[in-house]
Amino acid sequence: MTEPFEQTQTLAPDAAGLAQAAAFLRAGRLVAIPTETVYGLAGDARNPDAVARIFAAKGRPAHNPLIVHLANLDAALALAALPEAGLKLAAQFWPGPLTLVAPLRAGHGLAPAVTAGLETVALRLPAHPVARALLAEFGGPVAAPSANPSGQISPTTAAHVRAGLSGRIAAILDGGACAVGLESAIVGFDGPRAVLLRAGGISREALETALGARLATDAGGKITAPGQLASHYAPRAAVRLNVTASNPGEVWIGFGPDCAGADFSLSQTGDPAEAAARLFAVLHEADALGRPIAVAPVPETGLGAAINDRLRRAAAPRA
Ligand code: AMP
Ligand code: MG
Repeated sequence: MTEPFEQTQTLAPDAAGLAQAAAFLRAGRLVAIPTETVYGLAGDARNPDAVARIFAAKGRPAHNPLIVHLANLDAALALAALPEAGLKLAAQFWPGPLTLVAPLRAGHGLAPAVTAGLETVALRLPAHPVARALLAEFGGPVAAPSANPSGQISPTTAAHVRAGLSGRIAAILDGGACAVGLESAIVGFDGPRAVLLRAGGISREALETALGARLATDAGGKITAPGQLASHYAPRAAVRLNVTASNPGEVWIGFGPDCAGADFSLSQTGDPAEAAARLFAVLHEADALGRPIAVAPVPETGLGAAINDRLRRAAAPRA
């Protein structure tokens, strides 16, 4: 579907901006919204035209299902049946950067393309006050993948969204920079057993503490998260990882206190949460310099696992 050019408005996160954003959603149009993870490209999840516009605006492959964003737990439970472990995680981490994948209920009313035809749906209650206010004002389920062209670096500011999608969406609701900076952690269920489908903005350790049990990593291919491509989050430049001394001509992104001479630092003190919040913005800035990118090693603990997941995909050979 080729959409005509539209003049992409910037909306302030005030009453007038929220009312206009909700009106666009009701009309089946797309609005980029701030969440605590990254900016989302929001459309009415019940409206097949709106959902088709999301895939078209991003150039997203149709086999890659969308996360449905909701205002409250009741709205989530009306769409999907969460097992005990899911209710436990929801109680602890919603609203927040956690997505739960669970079987759809009959009569859910979602456009089939949202779930890429699966019988499960991915659900999240975002914590960002602007996202919450918009969801309350709109009053329905909102499908929202990251607000960037498919495969490219995720957006953590309104300016990133505008650089990637201007002319293809109705509006950008500007809520400032995203605090978490990484996409949500995704947990699915193999019967009663919780499975980590994607590392993200809540660490495996924190999820396991809340569950009082280990998370399975992959249920032997039975429960999977489709659409997680090897190359993703990709700058235009080539990316090299685990670099403790950069080559001439490279832009070096450091982590921790031992990266004297780095062009950027994810976190001078080696704080994974700070590095997560800065990751995509630093990649955008480094890429703007037009030189190959080298990134210092990031420890795999806590949010480091999700940071390294994103960096591996940013460095993967391009499709
Ligand atoms: P994002 O690309 O950040 O919008 O996250 C969407 C991701 O959630 C998809 O790429 C899938 O990996 C995962 N996902 C969404 N719906 C499902 C589902 N029904 N079953 C498993 N994974 C899903
Ligand atoms: Mg994305």
